Amino acid sequence: MRKLWIAICAIFLFTNCSSEKEDIMMKKVDIQLIRNATLKLNYAGKTLLVDPMLSEKNSFMSFVQPDKNLNPTINLPVDAEEVIDGVDAVLLTHAHPDHLDQKAMEMLPKNITLFAQQADRESLKAAPFTNIDFIETEARYDDITIIRTDGKHGPDQILQYLGMVSGYILKAENYPTIYIVGDCLLDDGINRIIETYKPDIIITNSGGAIFMGENRILMNEEETVAIAKKAPNAKVIAVHMESLDHCTVTRESLQKVATEAGLEIITPADGEILKL
Ligand SMILES: [Zn+2]
Repeated sequence: MRKLWIAICAIFLFTNCSSEKEDIMMKKVDIQLIRNATLKLNYAGKTLLVDPMLSEKNSFMSFVQPDKNLNPTINLPVDAEEVIDGVDAVLLTHAHPDHLDQKAMEMLPKNITLFAQQADRESLKAAPFTNIDFIETEARYDDITIIRTDGKHGPDQILQYLGMVSGYILKAENYPTIYIVGDCLLDDGINRIIETYKPDIIITNSGGAIFMGENRILMNEEETVAIAKKAPNAKVIAVHMESLDHCTVTRESLQKVATEAGLEIITPADGEILKL
């Protein structure tokens, strides 16, 4: 009997110690949603700016009525100067104007480290940056490993018009693994990426945008909820909503579907900083 008690106490102590140890070892990441897909991350000692779109409201082309300047549909929550303040590097999922716009190209230091997908080598030729690291599969940035992931920015019949897009896995020792999914629909490839890397944080572009007729080119509410279901231990953060005129999903419509499914999805306000 005494032996049994000792064994139980040892198990209790061990499990307690190991969970405390995990808590101590796992460091936090600050994730600030700026607007649309633009994010500012403090991760493993670096400040990364993801997909910078810094234009003022109604300053570039509508994706619904191309003869009008209706995008972005809202202003930045803070000054653009504040957005780029302290940024060490830029991470670009693809070079569409809602992910890298003219204003960002003008404002960012020309020698800033910019990570981009190989597929944008041609489209970034005219960009003013002198220090672009085109990632084929993987790159290293100080303590951070950046792994490029694939995605489909819409149904097959219009992919040729939208071009290739990427997502990224960010990994660093003692930090949560982050999966920035990018502009794409949910497919088996994304499910496999979640199975392979088991991200702690998944950031989805969930605006359900419509393009060239009725083609949906971003995840909708149901696909975002399916990701949360697929990765029950991950924190799912949905962005790329309520900033462009062809997006159909709102924070409210997404939360409604998530609540009905009994799943938690984080939909930060523009400017909000999450500490995860
Ligand atoms: Zn986009």
